[in-house]
Amino acid sequence: MSEERNPPADRRADLLLLNARLITCDPTQPRASALAIGGGRILAVGSNAGIEQFRGRGVREIDCGQRSAVPGFIDAHCHFFALLRSFFSLDLSPPAVHSIRDIRNLLLRKARFTPPGRWIGGAGYNEFYLEEKRHLTRFDLDDVSLSHPVILYHRSMHACVLNTLAMQLTGISGDSGEPPGGTIERDLETGKPNGLFFNMAGYLQERIKQPISTEEMAWAAGQANAQYLSLGITSLGEASVTNDFNQWLAYKKLKEDGLLKSRLQVFPGYSSLKEFRERGLVSGSGDDQLSAGPLKIVLNASGSGLVPPQDELNRILLEASRSGFSVAIHAIEQAAVESALTALEYARLEYPCPPLPQRIEHCSECPPPLQRRLAAVRAAVVSQPSFIYYSGERYLTQVEPRVRRWLYPFKSLLGLGITLAASSDSPVVFNNPLTGIYAAVTRRAESGDLLTPSQAVTAGQALEMYTLQAARASGRESTLGSLAPGKLADLAVLSADPLSVPPDEIRSIRVLMTLIGGEVVWEG
Ligand SMILES: [Zn+2]
Repeated sequence: MSEERNPPADRRADLLLLNARLITCDPTQPRASALAIGGGRILAVGSNAGIEQFRGRGVREIDCGQRSAVPGFIDAHCHFFALLRSFFSLDLSPPAVHSIRDIRNLLLRKARFTPPGRWIGGAGYNEFYLEEKRHLTRFDLDDVSLSHPVILYHRSMHACVLNTLAMQLTGISGDSGEPPGGTIERDLETGKPNGLFFNMAGYLQERIKQPISTEEMAWAAGQANAQYLSLGITSLGEASVTNDFNQWLAYKKLKEDGLLKSRLQVFPGYSSLKEFRERGLVSGSGDDQLSAGPLKIVLNASGSGLVPPQDELNRILLEASRSGFSVAIHAIEQAAVESALTALEYARLEYPCPPLPQRIEHCSECPPPLQRRLAAVRAAVVSQPSFIYYSGERYLTQVEPRVRRWLYPFKSLLGLGITLAASSDSPVVFNNPLTGIYAAVTRRAESGDLLTPSQAVTAGQALEMYTLQAARASGRESTLGSLAPGKLADLAVLSADPLSVPPDEIRSIRVLMTLIGGEVVWEG
């Protein structure tokens, strides 16, 4: 046996990927055709001949047949348990329903096959695409069934509607007050709630004793796992503000049971800071499979002002920094983005080196003065390019042109050197990264309309938003986000090269194979 046939153990590959068109997202070697993988990590990137020296005894080979392969996609902001719940609820998204009448018909049919007393859920309705052009109220739902509590979520998850029975079961009556940040819509004359609630999904979910069995949850976890892998998503950021230590244990169990293959970074909700810290978990704790991310904070700008107000937000950021946490601040409206920046600037004076990058989630309305402040405070932006595809038509009719000009300004943000990660916010929209890449490159809505095309980015930049930039925003650039020696061997083999097909074809590219840590976890 020659020396080359038996390289030293730390340089011995157990898997060779050959005849690939690798898009590495590594600026030092952007293209290559072969990978040597050992111990779950990338040993070498090069040509078929170049990686031959890593071939050990019993090595496996995958011939990619000149297919493209990219680093595994990172969905930097999504909601795992909400995705599981969505599998049990009715699909009310625009292709499935066209009117409130359609929704009522779906509910009538569902009620017929659902035991009395059991909750009926639905998600994905968008009033803009309904014939009636309005949200539903409890009066649309009450005569569908008297014995089933009903909760329907708006596509954004920021609004939901309950029937009267559901309101009774969640303890909401005529004299209920709003929880912080929430809005109960009321009849103008009687003051009674009409069943429509804004920014209260978390509050309501806590009060729903949803009888989903352990078996049903395990089934749903399997569905979610298969969905991520079939889309090439090898890492997730779980950004739910409801994440507490019990949830952390649930994620840990999913990982231990092998029900969730994608790597997971869990963001503790800010009200659970103490319980995480007391168990020694701070931002960056954990391992390659399961780790603690930044503290999730929700900041809303409503008619009545900011929730939480500026001084409270500043206080939360100082406490987070002092306790070993970075933050991920949900901020959509310009006033919220501005307030998030003020708080980040304030915390940076005392704590210039956070454990993970500080992040603003969504950061949807972001004109140039705020872009410059983002660059100066070195905050990462975690955006959702697929919103352009799924909601572009609504932005075009409902968002003022003055604001629309700086809606999701990807090109400007990248131009300033700001870390810009992509994500799906799933289940808010379907989590196919190739839809997001298509939208970031074309700025086209599903209808074909264009949203601020001057902010289009190249396909290479859009791919990096789901790989290298997402790894950077998650503080995981040393192990994830590109195909480079030493990094974890996570990758997706694609049906076509997203960098060279005409932009219109990007969204029909499929994932043929997904690898995590050098293990083939999915084949299509
Ligand atoms: Zn979210």
